[in-house]
Amino acid sequence: MDRTDVIVVGAGIVGLATARALAARRPGLRVTVLEKEPEVARHQTSHNSGVVHSGIYYRPGTLRARLCVTGVGLMRDFCREHGLPYEEVGKVVVATDQAELPRLETLFERGQANGVPGLELVDAARLKEIEPHAAGLKAIHSPRTAIVDFPAVARRLAALFTTAGGEVRTGVRVEGVRATGGGVTVSTDHGPVEARAVITCAGVQADRVARLAGADVGDVRIVPFRGEYYHLRPEKSHLVRGLIYPVPDPALPFLGVHLTRTVSGEVEAGPNAVFALSRDGYDAFDVRLADVADAVTFPGLWAMAARFWKVGAYELYRSFSKAAFVEALQRLVFEIGMADVHRGGAGVRAQALGRDGQLLDDFVIRESPGALHVINAPSPAATASLAIAEHLVDLAVAKLGV
Ligand SMILES: Cc1cc2nc3c(=O)[nH]c(=O)nc-3n(C[C@H](O)[C@H](O)[C@H](O)COP(=O)(O)OP(=O)(O)OC[C@H]3O[C@@H](n4cnc5c(N)ncnc54)[C@H](O)[C@@H]3O)c2cc1C
Repeated sequence: MDRTDVIVVGAGIVGLATARALAARRPGLRVTVLEKEPEVARHQTSHNSGVVHSGIYYRPGTLRARLCVTGVGLMRDFCREHGLPYEEVGKVVVATDQAELPRLETLFERGQANGVPGLELVDAARLKEIEPHAAGLKAIHSPRTAIVDFPAVARRLAALFTTAGGEVRTGVRVEGVRATGGGVTVSTDHGPVEARAVITCAGVQADRVARLAGADVGDVRIVPFRGEYYHLRPEKSHLVRGLIYPVPDPALPFLGVHLTRTVSGEVEAGPNAVFALSRDGYDAFDVRLADVADAVTFPGLWAMAARFWKVGAYELYRSFSKAAFVEALQRLVFEIGMADVHRGGAGVRAQALGRDGQLLDDFVIRESPGALHVINAPSPAATASLAIAEHLVDLAVAKLGV
């Protein structure tokens, strides 16, 4: 049988960072990445906003807050060392009506508690100096928030890992994970592979892959949320210097549609958050019956629907109505008109939902015999990927004896 020391399932940015960190920490260890797609970084890693989040939003003390803030420094150093774009364009989170001011202040306090560098609360006049076209009564300015090319980071991680002797096997789907006496046998559509330990980083398939290994994940289910983008026409891109975000709804794990400059010089608007009928459906009309069945048989979905049906209905409406999308953008930059934006791509977020209908807001890692499973790695997991990788390697050393 095919043998290796450690198998990492999933060649997104989290899996690749983990494989590389393992190989660096334990030279000589044979590490193999198994990825079902024909190339690395096909899913969330290549369908996101490209923002290196500074750590403002996350509850102090959570893994998400800690690994985000540590991850920023690691990502900055990695991009600089490897000549990849890393632009500190800065971000403003703008309160556009009085009712949002208390939430803005709470966010500012969170950011400070998390140790985000350079944060400032600014008034409308200072906001105009930073982002001349942004609307707002008050704003948080995060000057160090950056933009990067996450797929390029992932490809570089893969290249460094393989140069150091690691192996990335693409086009190999993991179909079973079974603990044996001294290790783990992973069955794939290309035959079984044996290893001493397994780490799964399967994004939107995270719960299913963990279940294959017998992990206890009955209390959570991954729910896919599609996020659609528009592009601002190039002649209007001067309206946005860096990143302009609204004050998010604290009940939801999403940040609200925002305006984002990308490293290619474009300005994107979005993403919204629409419950998706397929875990890898990038089109609004993609439906996968197994994914729908998985969601509707989970009690948490109905509990979530009961709480958030109004928000969900509005998101669906906005997904089809360009006018509603533009209206949301105009709250941030009044001068954006219907003719100034055109539809862009979409991404599908992997968001874990609890049985009680709560969307899990922290990163979640579970264990099964011989294996560790990343169950919930929503935004800012791309930002935090290098820190998540170090954390997973620590766990693998402590719990799996790697
Ligand atoms: C619209 C959107 C905007 C976002 N914006 C940001 C942002 O600005 N900043 C930020 O930090 N984060 C952002 N995120 C979040 C970020 O993209 C993700 O948290 C991150 O990419 C997760 O990486 P991953 O490696 O866990 O998942 P993925 O990139 O999804 O990789 C998982 C991999 O596992 C593979 N896989 C699954 N099942 C199997 C199997 N059975 N066998 C083999 N392989 C398998 C998949 O094919 C896939 O390649 C955004 C996400 C979305 C969707």
